[in-house]
Amino acid sequence: MISKIIAEDLVTKSEKLILKADKMVIVTHVGPDGDAMGATLGLWHYLMTIDKEPIVIVPTAFPNFLAWMPGAECILVYEDYKDQCDKLLFEAELIFALDFNVSKRLASMEEAVLNSNAEKILIDHHLHPGNFTKVAISYPELSSTSELIFRLICRMGDFSKINLACAECIYTGMMTDTGGFTYNSNNHEIYIIIAELIKLGVDKDKIYRKVFNNYSEDRMRLMGFCLFNKMKIYPEYQTALITITAKELYQFKYQNGDAEGFVNIPLSIDGVVFSVFMREDTDKIKISFRSQGTFPANKVAADLFGGGGHLNAAGAESYSNLSETIKKLEVALPDYKDFL
Ligand code: MN
Repeated sequence: MISKIIAEDLVTKSEKLILKADKMVIVTHVGPDGDAMGATLGLWHYLMTIDKEPIVIVPTAFPNFLAWMPGAECILVYEDYKDQCDKLLFEAELIFALDFNVSKRLASMEEAVLNSNAEKILIDHHLHPGNFTKVAISYPELSSTSELIFRLICRMGDFSKINLACAECIYTGMMTDTGGFTYNSNNHEIYIIIAELIKLGVDKDKIYRKVFNNYSEDRMRLMGFCLFNKMKIYPEYQTALITITAKELYQFKYQNGDAEGFVNIPLSIDGVVFSVFMREDTDKIKISFRSQGTFPANKVAADLFGGGGHLNAAGAESYSNLSETIKKLEVALPDYKDFL
């Protein structure tokens, strides 16, 4: 047995909304990652087994290494089918918002979701949930939204409706949001859930290979370039910084998601507890922060760049140029020495 984390009234409310809705849409954040995909597709498979026909819409394309996920072929990418998606969102009676806390994470589809008269249910594990849904199932103490989907289905009494495809999606999200159970993964109940998923037929080793051993040659070479040429270590601050320009990304034929996970790599250097990755985008610098132990990655993200996230994993955007952004971090590093 696992503990009942989701409050009873949230379970009841969700159940009621699901029961009465015919037209449902499931949405997730821009640049969907493994957990975004696992949660949306896991929920999608479950709803299909109870004779609902939800549609999954993602703001932007998902990375190729997740294209094998069962149901991925049915996902609509908002950017590519804007008119069709707008219509679906407008006509929806119920919208699930998964794996993000504030509506701006929907990027270009934010307006269409907010303007829809559909009832909305947020299911998420990020801190500080926004107030744009009728029901908010927000549990930042859980390491993935996919785990939350599993818990919600069980609490609605439908464990028996979880089929293999649903289980594979949920497992994928739990695995990717914990880096293959290497961080944020000490809650023993994670492994009770995994045991159930394996009983349902999930081949966890195969999923690991599909997700993590699925690099393109370009991605592998970009990673090598980042580590060899672009990584700077600040030993006195136990910090690593990797920066990459738009031009360099172009040289390595950068695809969406290609730099996913790069920020974690320097943490495997002995002594490094804080790692920052900056990627130059067309109009901004995207910054990822990772840390180990009690070093507050989210505090640095918030203090310097107005970003946020979890203690050990956070993100932000900078609208200065790359060299100014680097400088800002370097100048501030001494202020965080006390956290080391
Ligand atoms: Mn997540």
